[in-house]
Amino acid sequence: MSNMTQQRDLQTEARLSDELRLIPRWAIAGALLAFALTQYYFWIVLPEHRHHPSGVPVPLRLYLILSWGALAALYVLMIGYISNDAPRRGMSTRLWMVCVIMPGGVGAVLYFLLRQPITATCPACGAHIEGDYHYCPQCAYQVSSCCGNCYRSARVTDIFCVHCGHDLTASQPPGRLHAFTH
Ligand SMILES: [Zn+2]
Ligand SMILES: [Zn+2]
Repeated sequence: MSNMTQQRDLQTEARLSDELRLIPRWAIAGALLAFALTQYYFWIVLPEHRHHPSGVPVPLRLYLILSWGALAALYVLMIGYISNDAPRRGMSTRLWMVCVIMPGGVGAVLYFLLRQPITATCPACGAHIEGDYHYCPQCAYQVSSCCGNCYRSARVTDIFCVHCGHDLTASQPPGRLHAFTH
């Protein structure tokens, strides 16, 4: 594996762990509880209420019941994630929580289809910044790296611009992000 792909993998990994960190503790506890409750229901409560033994073989039953548990746990984790993801995108948390709790998972699908880009503030002046901005609209502070020739987005690990072939190491700031200086 080349150094570049390795670096890109590390970036993806970092982004994923940042996303996972959005899941609050209560959601993790809730997910474990949801898993335990589904197991309790399917293994203990349900067989007692059944008059005939079910014809499903045990390995298949184990698989199905574990799947239901995992699904329930995932649902709680997702609600936790959305509770922290919605505010950073300027979306109404309360409205989306109600929407996502609706049965069938339709609300969750809608959420991921309709969610707004992450909103942030300029580290220099505090103005509102959107995900695709390169410079702050109020003070011109550079908020993401871009090509010094065509001013389109560049990844901090790129050496040449993918749009115009410009040598990014030759760009003076603000061509490259100040933070990335080697
Ligand atoms: Zn600013
Ligand atoms: Zn360029």
